[in-house]
Amino acid sequence: MQRRDFIKTMGIAGGAVLTSPLWNNVFAAEDKGFPLIDLHVHLTDTFTIEKVMEIAEKTKVKFGIVAHPIDWGLKDDEALQKHIDMLRKYPVYIGLQPVGIGWYKNYSPSLLSQVDYILMDPQMVPMGDGVTLHIWEFDTYVADTEEFMQKYMDYALTILKNEPMNIFAWPLFLPVCIARDYYTLWTEERMQQILTAAKARNIAIEINDMAHTPHDKFIYMAKEQGLKFTFGSDSRNANAGRLDYCKTIAKKCGLKKDDFYFPDTNKHNGFFK
Ligand SMILES: [Zn+2]
Repeated sequence: MQRRDFIKTMGIAGGAVLTSPLWNNVFAAEDKGFPLIDLHVHLTDTFTIEKVMEIAEKTKVKFGIVAHPIDWGLKDDEALQKHIDMLRKYPVYIGLQPVGIGWYKNYSPSLLSQVDYILMDPQMVPMGDGVTLHIWEFDTYVADTEEFMQKYMDYALTILKNEPMNIFAWPLFLPVCIARDYYTLWTEERMQQILTAAKARNIAIEINDMAHTPHDKFIYMAKEQGLKFTFGSDSRNANAGRLDYCKTIAKKCGLKKDDFYFPDTNKHNGFFK
């Protein structure tokens, strides 16, 4: 790629970033099939951006770092600004993973407009009477499966239709206690409702390496209807970029570069001004 095109594509300044071989590696990898990009990586006190960069150098995987815009995460404009300034020195996409509806009201739109992408999942399911299930928790208890599925679908469709988001994460994931019924609970009708809502707003579907979801049939349906995909490990450790499930299912479903969503580093997430 010409340096001129490179600058135009990435839209970022700063010698360290522009001359980093990592960006080039990603573009080269596209030619071999699907791109090796993990857009769902969290940093911690011990899993630092430097550690992510070491993995990137070794594996040639390109990363997107997500953080939570919430009181215990990036709690305000100041924290978000600091976070963006820190990450812009590295060849990574900068993402947010909100954990509740309406979160963006606590931040300046001009600052949010600098975030490359927003990834949101439907894992905090409101069950009514003030009860919210955190369905990733191992001991999540589902009393009535059909009632749960109804509420889960309602929440998933609500965020898909209303929230600012570029990527729908953890698609089709089920609480452990009902996971054995995955193939019967995910009826074609339910899957189609999710796809229709995502497609209407050009929201990409995450292939989640931790949950091993979604399955091939859903991916085929999504692909046929022109939806885009991302790979996400949801890792906070050296598993970042491994993507074993993602690579296997992408190969099985014949996904190619054109089937993937890439954050737009010029327009960023596109929801705020
Ligand atoms: Zn996450």
